[in-house]
Amino acid sequence: MELKILLLPGDGIGVEVTREAEKVLARVASTYGHRLSVTKGLLGGIAIRETGSPFPDATRKLALQADATLMGAVGLPEFDNAPPEKRPERGLLAIRQTLQVYANLRPVRAYRALLDSSPLKNQLVEGSDLIIVRELTGGLYYGTPRGISGHGIEERAVNTMVYTRAEIERVAHVAFQLARKRKKKVTSIDKSNVLENSQLWRRVVTEIGASYPDVKLDHLLVDNCAMQLVLNPKRFDVILTENLFGDILSDEAAVLAGSIGMLPSASIGDRRPSGAWVGLYEPVHGSAPDIAGQNKANPLGAIGSVAAMLEYTFGLIDEAKSVTNAIEEVLDSGQVTADLKPVAVATTTEVGDAVCAALSRRVVPA
Ligand code: NAD
Repeated sequence: MELKILLLPGDGIGVEVTREAEKVLARVASTYGHRLSVTKGLLGGIAIRETGSPFPDATRKLALQADATLMGAVGLPEFDNAPPEKRPERGLLAIRQTLQVYANLRPVRAYRALLDSSPLKNQLVEGSDLIIVRELTGGLYYGTPRGISGHGIEERAVNTMVYTRAEIERVAHVAFQLARKRKKKVTSIDKSNVLENSQLWRRVVTEIGASYPDVKLDHLLVDNCAMQLVLNPKRFDVILTENLFGDILSDEAAVLAGSIGMLPSASIGDRRPSGAWVGLYEPVHGSAPDIAGQNKANPLGAIGSVAAMLEYTFGLIDEAKSVTNAIEEVLDSGQVTADLKPVAVATTTEVGDAVCAALSRRVVPA
């Protein structure tokens, strides 16, 4: 199979973790006999520096041509006080909208080798295995009107939380379809006791749920969900939620996996005629300016995103499984970065090499 990938390393540790992810992708392609073509592009702070825009036209074109896009992370402290359209994060929102990837899938698993890395008690975390389906192209992050206006005591800021029925329906279908392949349970998160937006969300999700009678649906208010994630994470299978709530809950869920550096994500849109999902793949973490350039970042979230890409966009289930198995083998070996284990640590590069070596040991060449 031909794998046409756009790689957008972005800023900070994005560059370091995607380097390892690319290595793993190349190893999978050579071992299984796929043709890999990787094109690199600019996104985020580096793109502003070089072109003046966080999402240059050239990147837009490349993203629309690629089968799938693999991103690192964006964000540089030098842009912290820049106007909104000149901030690296604008590039992220723009590429998600361009590709119309409206469902962000964030799997969170407690790996046995990492139970002690979580601040939660082992018995709470052990066996946790959930996936957050976050709506990605609507809600407060995109709604208009938005902006800051006025001066002095009259200065005010507005954001708008808006969802249409169609936007809720399509992301709900993704969640129910995923649940069918898992433990067949969807928990929909909202704030329907306060927000009209959430009342529509709950009503539409309930209606869609009726067409999946084999999947159990329950609803939780977002504040309760935040508490249940650390009190009883094993109660969850698929968590379905809107953009802002999903952004916050998925960082909270990272404590189950031991580090935010462990978490992959897949942002998917409609299916192509082939049945494959249009996809944008990236680790959940940001550009981590505090550790950038030190070869310290955990690349496993980015490498896990490669596994998600192989599965969702290319339908290469065996290849995806071989990557997740290799990640698990490396974790079991204790060869991990400092976010997971302060003593006897490995560098970003060493972890990437270890995953490649584990892949080669496990896979029978094509
Ligand atoms: P962050 O995720 O970059 O870092 C939070 C903490 O986690 C830091 O202490 C960092 O060192 C640590 N960390 C993150 N990833 C790690 C990894 N792979 N290995 C080891 N440790 C890791 O979040 P932040 O500090 O809030 O944001 C920094 C910048 O990143 C900001 O500009 C923010 O806007 C941006 N950001 C971008 C994305 C994205 O590109 N998707 C997501 C979140 C934040």
